[in-house]
Amino acid sequence: MDAAQPDAAALVKSLIIDVPDFPKPGILFKDLTPVFQDPEGYAVLIEAFASRYRMLDVEVVVAIESRGFLIGAPLAQSLGLGLSLVRKHGKLPRKTHQARYALEYGEDHIEMHVDAVRPGQRVVVVDDLLATGGTAGAALSVLRAAQAEVVEVAFAVELSALGGRAALGAPVFSLLQF
Ligand code: AMP
Repeated sequence: MDAAQPDAAALVKSLIIDVPDFPKPGILFKDLTPVFQDPEGYAVLIEAFASRYRMLDVEVVVAIESRGFLIGAPLAQSLGLGLSLVRKHGKLPRKTHQARYALEYGEDHIEMHVDAVRPGQRVVVVDDLLATGGTAGAALSVLRAAQAEVVEVAFAVELSALGGRAALGAPVFSLLQF
């Protein structure tokens, strides 16, 4: 970690807005849109990830739809790497690996093109937030099918009480924990 990271985390944290009972009663939604709206907040968020993954010999950034794209795309550019997409079912036009998963509030189905990652490639998987780990766990399933080497799964925010980290069975990095 570089010395700037605690400040980066504090700035990003200050920009996140908690929205109670969205999208349904009992969910405390962490709204990251103000982070993306803030030029400095967005830049330090991406640099916090970039400074970490510059050191870890990553070959591909894999981003999870849709807020993961907002982190994964600038991160891939910053690292000089390509970006591979894990998308909701029905969005990708060619042959895919697929996995179903449960959300904190619902159920979904994701997929990734079979040629998005080559066997043995070292990837970092990126999403905005880790809750139960269902989404990222499904992404790990498709990456296992692709025989990728997952260096780490990275999140801006981790909701620690929901146990996603333990559920994933892969190294996890989060900039902020609640
Ligand atoms: P999970 O699969 O339970 O780890 O949920 C993670 C995904 O759902 C992430 O892509 C988040 O965008 C979204 N999500 C789940 N819970 C929340 C929450 N409390 N606040 C904001 N986003 C959430």
